[in-house]
Amino acid sequence: MSKKLFIKTYGCQMNVYDSARMADVLAPLGYVPAATAEGADMVILNTCHIREKAAEKVYSELGRLRAFQAEKSASGGRMVVAVAGCVAQAEGAEIMRRAPNVDIVFGPQTYHRLPEMVARAARAAGQHGRGIVDTDFPVEAKFDFLPEQSISQSAGAYLTVQEGCDKFCSFCVVPYTRGAEFSRPVADIVAEARRLIANGALEITLLGQNVNAYHGVDAAGNSSSLGALIGTLAELPGLARIRYTTSHPLEMDDALIAAHRDVPALMPFLHLPVQSGSDRILAAMNRRHTADHYRRLVERLRTARPDLALSSDFIVGYPGETEADFEATLGLVRTVGFAQAYSFKFSPRPGTPAAAIAIDDGVPDAIKAERLAELQALLAEQQHAFNRGFAGRVVEVLLDRQGRHNGQLAGRSPQMQAVHVAAPDTCFGQIVPVRIEQAHPLSLSGCLDQHVEHAA
Ligand code: SF4
Repeated sequence: MSKKLFIKTYGCQMNVYDSARMADVLAPLGYVPAATAEGADMVILNTCHIREKAAEKVYSELGRLRAFQAEKSASGGRMVVAVAGCVAQAEGAEIMRRAPNVDIVFGPQTYHRLPEMVARAARAAGQHGRGIVDTDFPVEAKFDFLPEQSISQSAGAYLTVQEGCDKFCSFCVVPYTRGAEFSRPVADIVAEARRLIANGALEITLLGQNVNAYHGVDAAGNSSSLGALIGTLAELPGLARIRYTTSHPLEMDDALIAAHRDVPALMPFLHLPVQSGSDRILAAMNRRHTADHYRRLVERLRTARPDLALSSDFIVGYPGETEADFEATLGLVRTVGFAQAYSFKFSPRPGTPAAAIAIDDGVPDAIKAERLAELQALLAEQQHAFNRGFAGRVVEVLLDRQGRHNGQLAGRSPQMQAVHVAAPDTCFGQIVPVRIEQAHPLSLSGCLDQHVEHAA
């Protein structure tokens, strides 16, 4: 008999990918995906440690699950509750102590062992101290133990090529929760890409916490760069679009910049976090690049691909950030120009070096809020101006979602803008030419174009 599995995913696309793979691992045990936790036989919270108060949010969700667990027990069943992801890795057994209704805690590198954990949890049911904690960084690579990916019928697919990070930016938990950098072999990635394409994927986004540090082994036994991997994938018949995220400026090597010039399938969009425009703050963040290095890199990328849309991440109010440091960030934004960006107030992540200095050297919250509002206003203005440049143009849009209104589908332009299109359902899952009629602050809208001239 099938069992219901509900996975709640927090955070980034890598967690979305991991959740899908957890479902694959559990499928042979009879678990099928459920839309809600109510009545489920197993609930997994796949957590993210990036946002503020991430752990507290997980504990409050675990509190809410208790009622569902009680209902399930009252009807003679049992709901297994597991916490996965980066909060699980960071908190470990502390989760069991604070939330005794949790059966399993496992980190991002051990979910290939889920069947064994589920079996142990079943044997331990009802026993004191019954919880299973598996937050190792095992020597075996989990990808070698995962079953083939079950394929969602999405035209836009994600494929993890790299995990972990050795950069140790002072504000970031990833090196501690995801471990050291690991790259999957080229052959495994190509095989997974072929399966995704066979099931309708037209676009594949290559994922990694530090994706452009990719150095997987190729068929000749040599280390392949991300640029070379993209070149190999671009030759697969049926794959129209390739993207990758997230990158570090220090890892943008010549091969990757050349791929932006030479590989038409590599979309003209790049998310390249800079975090700050002040060299002093970049050094304090242990970013190991300067603002000028970033500017020169962007120049090279735009020479290689003039229509490249740039996205970034910014942290304002890092400990010790002065008005002059913040002005340097605004200056960098003005000179570079971004098509979109994510910006946050600094908030300390427990266990990171920045958390220790934030105690003595923190920027007052009111100042952080002021600076964030000013930065976001500038970024919003740039995004709207970038979008306005598309009014009246025809762009290729991969329609992979329902739109907000009846008779509307939605998707992404090559430059990653959200586009809403009046189109019949028969266009779903296709790349179609769209004439842009309106440019909004955060998106574009238009209609199907019948002419052949495309401006993508
Ligand atoms: S490069 Fe990215 S993932 Fe790695 S430590 Fe820095 S912010 Fe975190």
